[in-house]
Amino acid sequence: MRNHDITELRRQDVAHHLPAQANYRLIADMGGSRIITRAEGSTIWDGDGNAILDGMAGLWCVDVGYGRKELAEVAYEQMLELPYYNSFFRTATVPAIALAAKVAGLLGGELQHIFFNSSGSEANDTVFRLVRHYWTLKGRPERRIFISRHNAYHGSTVAGASLGGMAAMHAQGGLPIPGIEHVMQPYAFNEGFGEEAEAFAARAADAVEARILAVGPDNVAAFIGEPVQGAGGVIVPPPGYWPRVEAICRKYGILLVSDEVICGFGRLGRWFGFQHFGYTPDIVAMAKGLSSGYLPISATAVSREIVETLRASDRDFVHGYTYSGHPVSAAVALRNLEIIEREKLVDRVAHDIGPHFARAVASLDDHPLVGETRTCGLLGAIEIVAEKGTNRRFGGAEGAAGPVVRDACIAGGLMVRAIRDSIVMCPPFVITHAEVDRMVAIIRAALDEAALALA
Ligand code: PLP
Repeated sequence: MRNHDITELRRQDVAHHLPAQANYRLIADMGGSRIITRAEGSTIWDGDGNAILDGMAGLWCVDVGYGRKELAEVAYEQMLELPYYNSFFRTATVPAIALAAKVAGLLGGELQHIFFNSSGSEANDTVFRLVRHYWTLKGRPERRIFISRHNAYHGSTVAGASLGGMAAMHAQGGLPIPGIEHVMQPYAFNEGFGEEAEAFAARAADAVEARILAVGPDNVAAFIGEPVQGAGGVIVPPPGYWPRVEAICRKYGILLVSDEVICGFGRLGRWFGFQHFGYTPDIVAMAKGLSSGYLPISATAVSREIVETLRASDRDFVHGYTYSGHPVSAAVALRNLEIIEREKLVDRVAHDIGPHFARAVASLDDHPLVGETRTCGLLGAIEIVAEKGTNRRFGGAEGAAGPVVRDACIAGGLMVRAIRDSIVMCPPFVITHAEVDRMVAIIRAALDEAALALA
């Protein structure tokens, strides 16, 4: 364990470092960020020596848990053998090809071709450019419009944030860029409270069709959605939603893009979220769990038909990144997938820790502040309300209670996130039963504390 001068690091953090997605005045007022110095299994340690159970798997990504020596070893070996080469202009590296074959095998069906990028945002930028290029090659250049959902998260680049439906992100930088339409999200607790699930599923899916008709079906290129909206607040769509959206896409010949950046690689108890919800996408974006966050890498998988269209053209796909298929990241990702397979972690999510997590989170339903709990695999959310039995929020608007509960959780030794008034959870696949029980006990204590603070 290395010693760090945390006081000096916090001073330098304020003086020189701009962390991501942050309020810089708040960081300065706090005298610097919370500094995480090490981690093992499902636990992280901060610079003050506090052990914190990581209920978020980092940023929805450290699926195999921290401290995997074999991932460090594989990176070391690959760095000595070939630390870098690119995949531009008809070159490739051994790990990139091996990883493409591996991911294609997991996806199965028609999704047999993989384009690599470094981040989830870049994976979706690739989607954006590839889809428009595809329709141009098909002789349908007018098919340019993407349909997405309000409160979707597809990344932080210009295309990613535009495809996403986060109003606060659109407000900065004049987004979305033209050609992106946002429709209602399948968020029953907020937008269909008290409505019968089947009727709400149909209403939310039909909003997609209504927008297609409004903009003209011949102008629509693709629909993009996360199987479960993660950063939007772990919004689990009601049964029937996805098959209906899929049928609508097929009816109008629109490409269906599944953004599996969070849900991919076992998070919902199947290898991919589309398998869990029973639909077949034409394109899949992946990142996070692909390498469990050990190194940056993402992937965009496309169907055979799309590749055949690209191959029928003599034009290059003029798109790519310096780090597309980075050999060290690819080697680490490949080993990460091998770990998931060897340790049967997808089965563990489906049949062991996932059901335990579901029961543990549901045990909070009796708390006076809890309006709803919901889980899907190892994703969970707890809705905090001012009046049980309603979806009425503290202070009359969303966002007053969530941060209070989150801060109490962190002080109690559990890292969770507050998304408006939802406490969301996304623990590593290796979290133990006892750790899940501890998570829930800390959340209950935090809710008790918040009930007094918010009264
Ligand atoms: N898509 C989804 C569904 C995500 O959850 C995220 C990140 O949380 C992204 C895309 C963007 O990924 P990145 O932060 O790696 O650019």
